[in-house]
Amino acid sequence: MSRIVIIGGGFTGASAAIQLLRRSRSQLDITIVEPKPDIGFGLAYSTDDPDHRLNAPTSDHFVDPLDLDEFQRWCSSTGIMTSDTNALASNGAMYVRRKDFGRFVSGKLQDAAVHSKTRSLFRHMRDVATDASENLTSIGVRTKSHGFLEADTVLVATGNAQPRLPPPFTSSMLDHRCVVGIPTDLQRLGGIPKNSRVLVVGTGLTALDVISTLIRQGHTASIVAISRRGLRPRSPRSMISQTKSTPSFLDRIEGPISPFLEALGPNPSARAVLQALRFRIDQELKLGRDWYGPFDELRDAVWQVWPSLPPQEKRRFLRQLRPWYDAHRFRTPPQNDAIVRRAEQSGLVKFQAARIESADIDESEATVHVQLRERSTAVSTHLEVDVVINCTGLDVASGSSDNPFLRSLLKRGYISHDDSKVGLAVDQQCRAIQKNGRSLRWLRILGPPTVGTFGDSIGSPFIAAHIHRVLPSIFEFLQQSEFEGAKA
Ligand SMILES: Cc1cc2nc3c(=O)[nH]c(=O)nc-3n(C[C@H](O)[C@H](O)[C@H](O)COP(=O)(O)OP(=O)(O)OC[C@H]3O[C@@H](n4cnc5c(N)ncnc54)[C@H](O)[C@@H]3O)c2cc1C
Repeated sequence: MSRIVIIGGGFTGASAAIQLLRRSRSQLDITIVEPKPDIGFGLAYSTDDPDHRLNAPTSDHFVDPLDLDEFQRWCSSTGIMTSDTNALASNGAMYVRRKDFGRFVSGKLQDAAVHSKTRSLFRHMRDVATDASENLTSIGVRTKSHGFLEADTVLVATGNAQPRLPPPFTSSMLDHRCVVGIPTDLQRLGGIPKNSRVLVVGTGLTALDVISTLIRQGHTASIVAISRRGLRPRSPRSMISQTKSTPSFLDRIEGPISPFLEALGPNPSARAVLQALRFRIDQELKLGRDWYGPFDELRDAVWQVWPSLPPQEKRRFLRQLRPWYDAHRFRTPPQNDAIVRRAEQSGLVKFQAARIESADIDESEATVHVQLRERSTAVSTHLEVDVVINCTGLDVASGSSDNPFLRSLLKRGYISHDDSKVGLAVDQQCRAIQKNGRSLRWLRILGPPTVGTFGDSIGSPFIAAHIHRVLPSIFEFLQQSEFEGAKA
């Protein structure tokens, strides 16, 4: 029986386990090491806030790319489509609560384990992995409480690290009562007095989540949301106006890339990709269509286009174009968009493009003094607030220094940072690239930490598709190690 240890039980770990259990032709012994009480929720789908919704329609969410409608069927059978009366959005699509997606993923993993045709075993070890190492016959995974686990292969699914508070805020400010460093901490958000003046640092989807929460709590004082460019997530496409039927998800992702991207040739610059996209969008607009089609063609092909960008072009993209890409890529659930826009109209919420020059906490008054430089005018202004909430988005460097498991693997030289330094280096089959530049056959990294290699491995459909793509190589490796073990 091949032993697979998965580190991390968020969406990625759960999707990997489900796809392995469903596709394997031989008996597997799968362990997910995850400190949270349940598997499938992770950082994104643990939220109990009823206004925290999926950022794309139900139809775009699944756990196994070979069953794209599974989540929709689950929503119908559990009655969520009717009990969640706000799920149907103004654009004609369903946007259910994120926690419900977590419940679906969790339930499907239990089903896959119970109904495994190969009578494979699955267990959740509630623990934190701290290390892994290779000896002559197998791989050993160390955990904080349970000790030691033997494995034939290890899949790293440690996901997104918590965001860091950017300078000029200092790390010591994180513990201060005026600063909420972790935007998913609903208890801290719930404790913010309604009459506190709030500064939200960041204007992306997390900021919209947080503002929606504050508004539902009856917030009455001003909320200012700031980012350097002031870019906000775009609204999603209207399902009602969509007439053209789009190919199925896997066909879009794995089919040939769009001709306008194909024409870029090898090693394009970030600017060339942007120009080609703009030209293609212009063509669509002249035909009376919108930007979504060309943009989505790029998004679906990013995993193929990104690796061909030279390293300095990747860094240029991350420095200059990423905020723009993210604003178009991660679209707001219409429900949150409406909540926040209403609050803007009433004057409660204000979005601003500005740089934070300095931030000082006045202990005697429990306020934060912030000096801002407005992007459009370069004028410096002073802002006094009672609470700062960090919504700067995820730590793209995948938090390897904070995670004991990744830290140990880095020290051993089993893993390394990718050439754009935003995540961990992997080859096309998601095998970890070691410090010596060679792929490590038994260690795979899946999901968000591979963003530097594949460009856009953040959204759940893309993660599930990527797992689907590397599954044959995992099975092949397990078969080979079994054969080598038998020979030995
Ligand atoms: C707030 C938020 C909302 C999002 N909304 C959407 C959405 O609506 N739709 C969408 O498609 N995508 C969304 N995403 C993108 C998200 O990245 C993916 O959908 C997906 O959830 C990533 O899952 P993951 O398991 O890789 O990461 P995570 O959810 O971060 O889970 C990783 C898990 O690994 C565990 N772990 C970490 N280190 C260790 C260790 N050493 N030992 C044991 N366990 C460990 C953690 O406890 C955690 O549970 C959202 C992301 C965030 C942060």
